[in-house]
Amino acid sequence: MSTSPPLLELRGLSKTFTERRGLSVQRVHALRGVDLRVHPGEIVALVGESGSGKSTALRLVARLTDPTGGELLFRGERVPLRSRASAGYRKQVQLIFQDPFASLNPVHRLGYHVLRPLLRHTKLGRAAADARVLELFEQVGLSPAAEFAARYPHQASGGQRQRVAIARALAVDPTLILADEPTSMLDVSIRVGILNLMRALKRERNIGFLYITHDLASARYIADRTLVLYAGQVVEEAESNELMREPLHPYTRLLLSAVPKPGGNILSPLAAKSGAPNLRDPGGGCSFAARCPEAVQRCKDVAPALAPLGGGRSARCHLIEPSRLIRPQATSGSAEPLSLVASR
Ligand code: SF4
Repeated sequence: MSTSPPLLELRGLSKTFTERRGLSVQRVHALRGVDLRVHPGEIVALVGESGSGKSTALRLVARLTDPTGGELLFRGERVPLRSRASAGYRKQVQLIFQDPFASLNPVHRLGYHVLRPLLRHTKLGRAAADARVLELFEQVGLSPAAEFAARYPHQASGGQRQRVAIARALAVDPTLILADEPTSMLDVSIRVGILNLMRALKRERNIGFLYITHDLASARYIADRTLVLYAGQVVEEAESNELMREPLHPYTRLLLSAVPKPGGNILSPLAAKSGAPNLRDPGGGCSFAARCPEAVQRCKDVAPALAPLGGGRSARCHLIEPSRLIRPQATSGSAEPLSLVASR
């Protein structure tokens, strides 16, 4: 785990939307008290299915919407949450969108999309900015750069467009990049190239990434730490390899059991019931209780807290008791794995 101060810190961040249907007004609790940290040179994945709150979290950090509670700190300073983000914040925090087809203007050449932020947010003159565009194209693997810069978006593949989007984000030397499912609309064959590019940027430029995805396999590949979101709450957090090797929360196990593996899944699929979480009335118990194959009566009555388990790991489940977890010893390497406590 990184010991440097966090670039980004969320403290109890919440977002409730108001939904009007005719005369009735309902509140939708999209995000509930999320804590999260991203350090320089670290990739943190926020994983969950549709409606888990991961995109809402990203929109809050990008300052595209205001939270209803909690705090957001950037480099240790509180970010004002009820006003427009400062130019400094918008320069330091860049966004890569999910859809590389919609994020570029079809009437402009690819080079223009990177030139514009350079002219707007840096002191470079036109000739220096043009040269920098070519440098950035080379850095993201668009070579020969001059040829790609002269193309229009329809003359580039999805992967090439996403590389332009990354070059555009890099143009202003950001310290944090918010990546919103950046590979989900790309062919499987070119996804790994984009993920490798993000890993190289983290390593070579010490950029922090908040990586939003529904895909645990890509989180395992790229992220240092992973937070699993369900119904607007973090239900498990751990170092990514540890989380994938030994998922503790029933929802994480459910997500992981659905990831296809060559030669079969490592976990047998859980017999979870289907159904979306109720974000309008989360109730007093565990949000996952209606679907959870492990649920007991207490789960329906009492909401579990997110309990720290040591080593940066935490989980929100009544059946996971920190005192009963046996953690691997760094020296022996033969300790028993972490496990769910089967006490009912
Ligand atoms: Fe399942 Fe209960 Fe744990 Fe919730 S608290 S995840 S319902 S076992």
